Amino acid sequence: MLYYAEPVAKLIEELGKLPGIGPKTAQRLAFYILNTDPGEARELARAIVNAREQIRYCSVCSNLTDTDPCHTCQDETRNRSVICVVEEPRDVVAIERTREYKGLYHVLQGSISPMEGIGPGDLKIKELLTRLQGNTVQEIIVATNPNIEGEATAMYLARLIKPLGVKVTRIAHGLPVGGDLEYADEVTLSKAFEGRREI
Ligand SMILES: [Zn+2]
Repeated sequence: MLYYAEPVAKLIEELGKLPGIGPKTAQRLAFYILNTDPGEARELARAIVNAREQIRYCSVCSNLTDTDPCHTCQDETRNRSVICVVEEPRDVVAIERTREYKGLYHVLQGSISPMEGIGPGDLKIKELLTRLQGNTVQEIIVATNPNIEGEATAMYLARLIKPLGVKVTRIAHGLPVGGDLEYADEVTLSKAFEGRREI
């Protein structure tokens, strides 16, 4: 990095800290930024600082938001008797894109992973239980990822919440639309059987 002027080296160093950005890409991005007009570079810098300073976690659902409670939690048109539990804010975006779901959300901010030392206490589970007081919520849809951690988290939540008299459901895992049975791996295929429904 000594080959570059100090500010350039610093820019490459900072960009290189971003996920998925190796030294080569960091260098390429840095030179791209250096070739844009100063106004554009300022816009980028401002967008980063503004997002970081204005965005926080919703005190109700733990999703990322610029207002507290977030827009979804405040939206009176949404069904308040259902909460869909997901691992990350990006999962909310994915579900919202389907336009199928009209209930509320709860973001756990991770999943139970003994390998990584993440236990239930590290997730927003206490906050979820708080939302179940008052008997408005009738169903919890657990939409954690279909992997070992996501399944463990789903089982944990079911054991915790079912005794409270709230229905706990799990989204079905199955075959991708447009896929072929013969190419499906056995875990996906067995989950598809588990999640079968009457037609
Ligand atoms: Zn919220």
